[in-house]
Amino acid sequence: LSQRLPLRSSGDELARLVDTFNSMLGRLEESFRKIKQFSGDASHELRTPLTILKGETEVALRWAKTPEEFRKMLISGMEEIDRMSRIIDDLLLLAKSEGGQKPLTIKEMSLSDLLQELYLQGRSLAQPKSIELVLHPNVTEEIRILADKMRLRQVFLNLIANAINYTPDGGQVEISLSVDGEQDEVIVKVSDTGIGIPAEHLPHIFDRFYRVDRARNREDGGTGLGLAIVDSFVKAHGGRVEVFSVPEKGTTFTVFLPRKGPQTPPATP
Ligand code: ADP
Repeated sequence: LSQRLPLRSSGDELARLVDTFNSMLGRLEESFRKIKQFSGDASHELRTPLTILKGETEVALRWAKTPEEFRKMLISGMEEIDRMSRIIDDLLLLAKSEGGQKPLTIKEMSLSDLLQELYLQGRSLAQPKSIELVLHPNVTEEIRILADKMRLRQVFLNLIANAINYTPDGGQVEISLSVDGEQDEVIVKVSDTGIGIPAEHLPHIFDRFYRVDRARNREDGGTGLGLAIVDSFVKAHGGRVEVFSVPEKGTTFTVFLPRKGPQTPPATP
């Protein structure tokens, strides 16, 4: 063998092979680390409401005497159960689409109609906080794309709900839509005049369960999965999400989507 393959070149081949293996191992290790981290985080997030529920039930069993006291415990127990349900619903949504159980249903759809529908829904979230929800005039122009309507509904609903949630009373949230003709991309922006996101948190906000202020968001009912869903669904469409934020001033999320839907790899002959 050494006669047919010069030693030097054989060394090069080997070095390349070792290199490839090492980088594959590195990627595998990183994937395992992410899975471990994710299941740890998921267990922790579900464990917290369960611990609260158990503690409150114990207290009620030991100390509550009147129906009113039992009622109080049941109401707060319901809140923890709702929280767990929300986390599980969001996790299932992510798992089903990423595990390929629910592939995208790509059809021609009107993005402008979808945003107008969401604007009407969003108003009922904005009204109690006296937030002005604005639909930029460019959304009235009909824009059709190839996409999974249900998934895009979830994407923009999450962004609009976040914008309202993280904007103090009396603020403003705007939805706009434009087309980049050259790139054949559509661009949806959801911007708010809210609390903003400090720069050091920006690289992490799309991670599952990541929240800038964990304590505050528990009260708000957030699961920390909303932006992970946004990112996953947009990437599945072959698009991308960008965020620009100034603390105390506001945040803009920009979603870029290819008009022709995800570009499937060419079929093998
Ligand atoms: P959550 O359920 O906590 O809202 P998300 O994944 O939707 O989780 O968002 C992750 C974190 O990013 C939020 O907890 C919040 O700290 C921050 N965030 C998201 N959207 C906004 C926004 N429009 N303004 C300010 N902060 C935001």
